[in-house]
Amino acid sequence: MKRFFFSCILLAFGTLSCEKGGLQRIARETTAMDTYLSVTIYDEQLSIADGNAIIDSVFAEVNRIEQLMTDYTDTSEVGKINIRAGRESVAVSPELIHLLTVANDFSEQSGGSFDVTVGPIVRAWDFLGSEHEIPTRGRMRLLRRLVNFRNIVIDSPMVYLRQRGMRLDLGGIAKGYAVDRSVELLKRRGVKRAIVDLGGNLGVWWEGTHALDSSVAEILIRHPRKEGKFFGSFHAGTSGISTSGDYQRYFIKGGVRYHHIIDPSTGYPARDVVSVTIIANDATTADALSTLVFVLGRVNGMELIKHTSGVEGLIIWEEGDSLRYLLSPGLEGKFVRSND
Ligand code: AMP
Ligand code: MG
Repeated sequence: MKRFFFSCILLAFGTLSCEKGGLQRIARETTAMDTYLSVTIYDEQLSIADGNAIIDSVFAEVNRIEQLMTDYTDTSEVGKINIRAGRESVAVSPELIHLLTVANDFSEQSGGSFDVTVGPIVRAWDFLGSEHEIPTRGRMRLLRRLVNFRNIVIDSPMVYLRQRGMRLDLGGIAKGYAVDRSVELLKRRGVKRAIVDLGGNLGVWWEGTHALDSSVAEILIRHPRKEGKFFGSFHAGTSGISTSGDYQRYFIKGGVRYHHIIDPSTGYPARDVVSVTIIANDATTADALSTLVFVLGRVNGMELIKHTSGVEGLIIWEEGDSLRYLLSPGLEGKFVRSND
């Protein structure tokens, strides 16, 4: 696995842990799901050996989910569904059925702005390749016909894509899901405080705290236009946090930035905003919503955040050479803008 993309959110250790002192920090990093995976456990009692064994099992869990859900091979469950699109249905795990159902709920909520059948269009853009070709409008019109979450037929345990050429791409939700599973595993092993970061999808597990708890971790939001700089920060406790940005997978051609978050209604990258951070009770929700709100744009996106309980968000957009931002009500007074 290559390490293409770096964090959209970075963590600095917050005040609670410092005050408490004595907390041992066991941290490891690897690559998974085409990005980096870091797991940090904070504990007074855990031995280094036990901590490392637990982290090994988190790495194994994320790998297992990647094997199920990647669309880069024909052998994963998603790959099998894709190659049999328009031909036959495929028996898959309850876990994949669950995630597809969750994804479809987000699609319904957003009128299709979030749609995991966006695969043929993401492929056509080939953001990971070196040839940066812009698909023609004609080709895009044909590809757009293949994108429709209503053509995913789920009849547990069978899944079927109605049209040939359809492709599932869980890139907008699977990392958040993998983070949630990792946090579950850490809890089952008795860990009381940990942070999992899978390519900027964070799971903060800090027993006895809540999402916007000011005493736990400082979340630094990457500056969308200045490499290595931060746009601002806020504090969070137990929650899922995800950022979607137009700087994560992109190319620039003719002065225009083409990036990986696609508006399914046009087939072209969503244009209204440059970065969206969502904080939710779980990382799956944060991951799907950050992608979805990015596509909806600042007005409809912020409306959706405000009307979804347990969810807060930060939306950043460009105006000329400067960046502007909007906060949901729960982040007002908590988000601190950096000097950049
Ligand atoms: P994220 O970084 O979580 O915002 O996810 C972006 C990834 O989600 C892309 O690289 C695609 O794999 C996939 N994707 C792009 N556009 C959409 C969309 N409109 N709905 C669902 N997934 C998408
Ligand atoms: Mg996402």
